[in-house]
Amino acid sequence: MGAQQFEKEGPPSFDVAILGAGPSGLFATSLCRMLGLSVGIFDALPLPGGQCAELYPQKPVYGVPAFQGRPAQELIDGLYQQALSYAPQFFFKAKVEAVRVKSKIFEIGTATSCAEAKGRIFSAAALILATGLGSFAPVKPNVPHFENFEAQSVRYGVQDTAEFRNKNIIIAGGGDAALDWALEMTHTAQSVTLVHRRDHFRCSEQKETDLKTQEDLGRLKVYRSSQLADLLGEAGSLQNVVLTTPAGPVRLPAEKLLVFFGLAPTPVLLIDTLEMKNQKIVIQRDTCATNLPGVLAIGDAVTYANRANLIISGLGEAATAAYSVLNFLRPDAKTPGLSPSLSTFKGS
Ligand SMILES: Cc1cc2nc3c(=O)[nH]c(=O)nc-3n(C[C@H](O)[C@H](O)[C@H](O)COP(=O)(O)OP(=O)(O)OC[C@H]3O[C@@H](n4cnc5c(N)ncnc54)[C@H](O)[C@@H]3O)c2cc1C
Repeated sequence: MGAQQFEKEGPPSFDVAILGAGPSGLFATSLCRMLGLSVGIFDALPLPGGQCAELYPQKPVYGVPAFQGRPAQELIDGLYQQALSYAPQFFFKAKVEAVRVKSKIFEIGTATSCAEAKGRIFSAAALILATGLGSFAPVKPNVPHFENFEAQSVRYGVQDTAEFRNKNIIIAGGGDAALDWALEMTHTAQSVTLVHRRDHFRCSEQKETDLKTQEDLGRLKVYRSSQLADLLGEAGSLQNVVLTTPAGPVRLPAEKLLVFFGLAPTPVLLIDTLEMKNQKIVIQRDTCATNLPGVLAIGDAVTYANRANLIISGLGEAATAAYSVLNFLRPDAKTPGLSPSLSTFKGS
């Protein structure tokens, strides 16, 4: 973006700008509003939810208290509704491309197709970076003819289970998402085949036991130490997948290929003086402060010793960051209680 677009004076648009509307950013929004701070929240995606909504909306979520095994989208809907009830300003389809620090004010420049944000430069007195893995793209298999089938027959996540009903499904991958979906789809698909290049899966012992049980019952087929070798079909419509297996090549009927090879994240470096480690933002665990005054960071975007990349970690950090922002902006103010609703809310 052009430097001239930053030339704006006057009071900040918000007390705090939150970059990223994944679970961490959504919860930080609610908490900041409950503490009486005005909030603008920006996300590059058209909808809230980050990885949960983009990658696994219907997958059961584990490790969130009192939410065990319920779909990720339900968690996001709840976090979003809670944030909306405090009336922050949401800007979707608003990818933040640059942040500039000017007289202790952060100016936020977006590349956006969001009507409310178009042509505007926003400013904030503090920032919470909740950018997760940044802009990310799924890792693609290196298979002949792959690009012919990608649009129509290959998926990197499940947006709508109906698409897979009564189909022959090949699931490639060895982590939780591959196993969760393989087990889930035994209920609705014509056939389910799980292909993993290694002998062991990267999942809990219990999940591997569940998989073995379903395999023994003949509800799904598992090819270990095997790889996708070729895709066959017509006009983008997949008909067969060829695998290389320890017993030799195997050709299977397949209408849909679900690939869970993980993500190739493009980490975001919005402020080049931020301290980073292994492409994550270094924070102080007790405050979520970065090395830059007024810039806090939370969620999967950050690193510190023994951090677990779980939703609950980001939710906890959201609370820490909200109080840190308040302390930064109003150091002499008595710490208020959380305002239960907008009707009792006295902030800006
Ligand atoms: C397949 C899978 C299954 C998982 N299952 C579980 C589970 O069961 N339990 C659990 O606790 N965790 C699970 N996780 C991990 C969990 O999803 C993450 O820990 C969580 O999403 C992190 O939330 P976040 O808000 O920090 O980041 P994200 O969810 O990554 O959200 C970050 C947001 O920031 C936005 N953004 C990034 N850069 C910009 C920019 N420059 N401008 C504007 N917006 C930007 C992105 O678009 C995104 O919406 C799973 C992850 C995966 C991939």
